[in-house]
Amino acid sequence: MAATILDGKKIAAEIREEVKAEVAQLKEKGILPKLVAVLVGDDPASVVYARSKEKSCANVGIAFELFNLPGDTPEAEVLDLIDRLNKDDSVHGIMIEMPLPKHISKQRVLEAISPLKDVDGSHPINRGYLLSGADGLFPATPQSCIEIMLRSGIEIKGKNAVLVGRGETVGKPLIFMMLNQNATVTVCHTRTADLAYHTRQADILIAAVGKPRMIKAEMIKPGAVVVDAGINQVEDGICGDVDFEAAKEVAGAITPVPGGVGSLTTVLIQKNVLKAIRLQGKA
Ligand code: NAP
Repeated sequence: MAATILDGKKIAAEIREEVKAEVAQLKEKGILPKLVAVLVGDDPASVVYARSKEKSCANVGIAFELFNLPGDTPEAEVLDLIDRLNKDDSVHGIMIEMPLPKHISKQRVLEAISPLKDVDGSHPINRGYLLSGADGLFPATPQSCIEIMLRSGIEIKGKNAVLVGRGETVGKPLIFMMLNQNATVTVCHTRTADLAYHTRQADILIAAVGKPRMIKAEMIKPGAVVVDAGINQVEDGICGDVDFEAAKEVAGAITPVPGGVGSLTTVLIQKNVLKAIRLQGKA
């Protein structure tokens, strides 16, 4: 029997309505949620991505401002801008668009953001909160993987979850997010011996690798939940890390690409802006 397709767009629309309602309540209290993105240089994909965030914030009533600095801006000026944004009470969330030019330290810039405005969940303090199970601001893509399962009625507790990928943005935060959901977690990477052995043990298999269609149907336990965080540009468009067409004949439930995990990321960043307002003690 073919797998249930976990519809990210439908879930994103559901969350969007919740965000809109919360924004309306905040506005009644005189708070206008605001997200700021900082882009250094003119990487075309980053410009498009930032503009799409602007449009989607407008949809839910969140104010958005993009600071697009020239590619040769000295690091000190970027740090000064972040310091001003940290101190600006009208700004609730700050995001740094990647990639940064080579002369700028990603670590110094990310650590300069106030942890209470770090809506990307990149600051070491928020990473620490994730490890300890405390509340904080956590990255959107791994949250999307969890949210898509929970909102589809999939139980995570007690399941064997296998993550393929231990990248800083997706795989590594997911280790702790899945542990916090009481899954039993196995993490696979390039040095894993016999990857297919591990993936076949998974009740929940999450791919965050960046290799087009590398998870084949025979690597999946029949009936497993397969969550594909991969976004890969290929000749015929965009595909995930899972060989979707074959995998959906084996899995019990599966996220498509596009239309799965990636559909939730922007709205979860917006949810983080609202959470940041609460953590800042403003609502
Ligand atoms: P990353 O930092 O490059 O990490 C990739 C991970 O995959 C690494 O841990 C690597 O292992 C592992 N890996 C690579 N080839 C492997 C193989 N053949 N077998 C087993 N493991 C392998 O990537 P990332 O930034 O975490 O992103 C992962 C994927 O998520 C990418 O497709 C990216 O485009 C996508 N992504 C999606 C969104 C979204 O909104 N949906 C957002 C961000 C990223 P080692 O650690 O041993 O090198």
